[in-house]
Amino acid sequence: MVAAYSWHPGACCVAPLWAIPVSVLPDEILSSWLVRAALAQGCDPLALTGVFWPKWRAWTRDTDRAIAENRLSQLALVSGISTRHFQAGTLQAVASCIQGGLPSNKAIWPWILALGARNTKRRSGQQYCPMCLSTDTIPYFRLHWRFAWQTGCEWHNCALADRCWNCAAPIEPHRLRADAIHVAICPTCKADLRDSVPEGCLVSALTFQREVDRVVHEQRGQMFGRPVKAAAWLGVADFFVSLIRRASRSGTTGLMSLIDRMGASIPQTMPTMAGAGLELLRVHDRQGIFEATWYFLAADKGSFQRALKGSGITRQGLCGKGEPVPALIAEFAESLPNKLVSRKRRSAPGATSPRPRHEVLRMMARLERRMEMVLR
Ligand SMILES: [Zn+2]
Ligand SMILES: [Zn+2]
Repeated sequence: MVAAYSWHPGACCVAPLWAIPVSVLPDEILSSWLVRAALAQGCDPLALTGVFWPKWRAWTRDTDRAIAENRLSQLALVSGISTRHFQAGTLQAVASCIQGGLPSNKAIWPWILALGARNTKRRSGQQYCPMCLSTDTIPYFRLHWRFAWQTGCEWHNCALADRCWNCAAPIEPHRLRADAIHVAICPTCKADLRDSVPEGCLVSALTFQREVDRVVHEQRGQMFGRPVKAAAWLGVADFFVSLIRRASRSGTTGLMSLIDRMGASIPQTMPTMAGAGLELLRVHDRQGIFEATWYFLAADKGSFQRALKGSGITRQGLCGKGEPVPALIAEFAESLPNKLVSRKRRSAPGATSPRPRHEVLRMMARLERRMEMVLR
């Protein structure tokens, strides 16, 4: 077993005012601590945040993204945990590294699982390892379980789970009531998440995960033999993820040949949510995609060039329409045949042509996601 990366060491309480002090555990995500702190003091998580932030509905948003210093000062005083330690439990530092600067205000941060929050309900976004929760003296949720590239547990060599094993509800510990024994209880059906039977994980997906962990930690990586910043490395990873997904949707002969020559194959089960970004996909969908993506990321420049040439792929076949092309990939694309031909409009001005099948599937998936949230 390879030692997994650590994201922060946790923090002990110093002179807390609370009768029951609650330390921040190693790698614990802020929301997990907030829920544990509330349950320890005998109140609902919603009640605790209501006391500290009466005008801020903390659980209607992604509390773990970042939190303003002024919101934390009162909490720091009472809990005996410094604001710096609370900040370490947020996603901001990692998101800054991924985006190459301060994270945007966009609803979805690249490579961070989106919660799809609607009021206090969530659609997805929180993963867990049943084995980690089972072996914890005090069960808690980790920061890295929100990273979209993480699909398995390095410690237990099993796949992460992202739903309640009993009722399939998303993981929403903030909706627990004060009488919950610990955070690993499903608020919907009261099942214990530690009873979930872990599934196996794909070896290449875990290797991919370990490499992204390393790139984010060191804030740089190697791509085709060249040192690049983490943001550029992840940009190329993103490109290959899109390429695999595009191939499964409507793979041209050239694209399918390229994938074959790289030693990869299209995942057997492709995303059930056709139009969803990587950050909205479930763990088994991402696992399959990363398994295939890893063959591209692990290749050296020469093998990639040979596979491109041998596949007969065109510039347009490699770079999907409307998809961003990283500078590192553009260099390869320029050497490929350019088959762009101007097409004459076949229909009269004003007439609409039928939408392509994948676009209809994407619209349908979006509608289904909305329906799911309304019906919950
Ligand atoms: Zn584990
Ligand atoms: Zn449940």
